[in-house]
Amino acid sequence: MSSTGGLGGRGLEAEMRRGAETLATFHDALVRFRHVFKVYRVADTGVVALGGVDFEVGEGEFLAVVGPSGSGKSTILNMIGGLDRATAGSVEVEGRDLGRLDEDELTAFRRDRVGFVWQGTARNLVPYLSVVENVRLPSTASGVKIPAARRTPRELLEVVGLHHRANHKPGQLSGGEQQRVAVAVALANLPKIILADEPTAELDSESSEMVLEAFQAVNHEFGVTIIMVTHDLLAAKRAHRQLRLRDGQLLVEGKPMEPLGTDGKARLPDEAVDALAGVDLEVEVRDGEVRIRRKGEGGLIGE
Ligand code: ADP
Ligand code: MG
Repeated sequence: MSSTGGLGGRGLEAEMRRGAETLATFHDALVRFRHVFKVYRVADTGVVALGGVDFEVGEGEFLAVVGPSGSGKSTILNMIGGLDRATAGSVEVEGRDLGRLDEDELTAFRRDRVGFVWQGTARNLVPYLSVVENVRLPSTASGVKIPAARRTPRELLEVVGLHHRANHKPGQLSGGEQQRVAVAVALANLPKIILADEPTAELDSESSEMVLEAFQAVNHEFGVTIIMVTHDLLAAKRAHRQLRLRDGQLLVEGKPMEPLGTDGKARLPDEAVDALAGVDLEVEVRDGEVRIRRKGEGGLIGE
């Protein structure tokens, strides 16, 4: 994707100039973590939630962050969303070091640049407002005229397949439908990034599918970057790429593997083949998972 994505068009010279200043520092990465540590203080000690994490997320990417409970997934998401600050290292979004923003700037950043979708449907929607009123709410609260906001709340509902539910109250919808409304709400201010923390955790697989399709649709249609925390590996497969975490550390950063071909053969990513080339290998099948590793090495992959 071009580094000027989203800033093109006539009559936007001022925007372009402002954009160009930003772009000078961020190139193609929309989010950049540089050696990020997060230590929470608990009583007299510290809990290391992130122990030095480096990664980048490109503009327009759909990224899944996966890992066991307590591995630091939500911590990463909260830092990208400006809800929490790094203890050390830098978190840059659109070339801005969030650690250098004051509270007012951070509030404006959260309001205008990011949208959130949380796990529990109750946290995403206002129960006594109709679906369409919920989608309208963020732009009312913002008070800022957003030039790109050409879509009406009803059109946003159409993207997530729920225009026919516009006048219902959230309580009249299924959990999955409520989460799809939440995706439309998160999109309402046309943020650069949508952050989703376990958005399908409370849903059955069919509803999860539809919520994931809603994320894919808005990613595709609006080019909005999506960063989704999940411990559902099927959900993670819907993303372009997965970041794997374990105990506050990044495990491997890689593309999900291609599914099995009709010949029953799976193809390893080229990087993995390169890394394994020319050494003695052993293969183990355990818990329905295939592990390939150098002879004598401990487990490489685990979940
Ligand atoms: P995940 O989302 O992967 O389950 P979290 O990012 O929520 O993990 O948490 C990572 C680690 O940081 C865990 O050990 C958790 O207990 C700890 N932690 C998270 N938030 C806080 C907090 N506010 N205070 C103290 N410890 C916290
Ligand atoms: Mg979490």
